[in-house]
Amino acid sequence: RAKSAGGNRYELADPEADARAITRHGLTTALPAALERGEFFIEYQPLVHLGDGSVRGAEALVRWLHPQHGVLGPDRFIPLAEHTGLIVPLGRWVLEQSVRQARAWRERYGDGADPLRINVNLSPCQLTHPGLVQDTVDILERAGVTPDALCLEVTESALIGADDDLLKPLRRLAEMGVDIALDDFGTGYSNLANLRRLPVSVLKLDRSFTQSMQQFPADPVDLRIVEGIVSLAHGLDLAVTVEGVETGAQAEQLRVLGCDTAQGWYYARPGPPDRLHELALVDTTG
Ligand code: C2E
Ligand code: MG
Ligand code: MG
Ligand code: MG
Repeated sequence: RAKSAGGNRYELADPEADARAITRHGLTTALPAALERGEFFIEYQPLVHLGDGSVRGAEALVRWLHPQHGVLGPDRFIPLAEHTGLIVPLGRWVLEQSVRQARAWRERYGDGADPLRINVNLSPCQLTHPGLVQDTVDILERAGVTPDALCLEVTESALIGADDDLLKPLRRLAEMGVDIALDDFGTGYSNLANLRRLPVSVLKLDRSFTQSMQQFPADPVDLRIVEGIVSLAHGLDLAVTVEGVETGAQAEQLRVLGCDTAQGWYYARPGPPDRLHELALVDTTG
């Protein structure tokens, strides 16, 4: 119990909040050594073509195997890494690992008409870092894969109100053949007219849309909203990916609405790269 006010000004009013603060601080200071010691690892979640069920690639999702706290998800440490700037070397590490993984998949499944591709998330801080384009070029070259193997995911909110300086590196990457996806689309203040200004080729519909497809048939207004987004996207020559697909009913409704690719627990949870090897050989259309 907290002592009554007196000489001690450091009494704990909320021990739990304090523990959280210590953890936050502890995690933040532990980040650089964690990167050096190799405590981060990547899970891959397949991206599946809604039309034929084939695996088209995967999204790279970083995790931290913390020696005391076990496996931590990105929501626990990415904001801290962004705050301290460690996100730049960490993001570079994720990109390098992921691109090498894409190379391994291509060696295994062939470099043909529809080779497997890798999606990698980019933080806003990485966007403003001057090394982004050159680092990406170097990483692709070192791995020996063409830029079309890579899709960089940037959240819609990171590009809201983006000026030309911010868009320039993304434009250069897009010109090289790297795909740019607008992640969590529909959650920000989407200025739809702004879309044509952005060098993006994929819209990733936020999970909240997928969730509203839980019922069959889904709410008619939600159906019309998704239908509208899909038709706008296709009209602008953008592909539509849906995230968070957990049931066959969701997959089917989103397929009928014209979405192109899907990602979610219905197909596979994020996992080690070998799981994709198995999935790529499995027909998920049932
Ligand atoms: P995101 O890019 O929108 O990634 C999708 C998130 O949804 C992932 O959470 C994934 O595990 C989760 N998910 C996938 N399928 C389902 C499903 O069917 N149902 C539900 N409920 N969730 C599903 P995760 O792995 O915790 O990642 C959270 C966020 O952390 C990502 O959201 C992304 O913004 C960020 N992140 C992950 N890896 C990186 C990275 O390497 N760099 C940066 N900058 N951010 C990353
Ligand atoms: Mg993403
Ligand atoms: Mg997303
Ligand atoms: Mg999301």
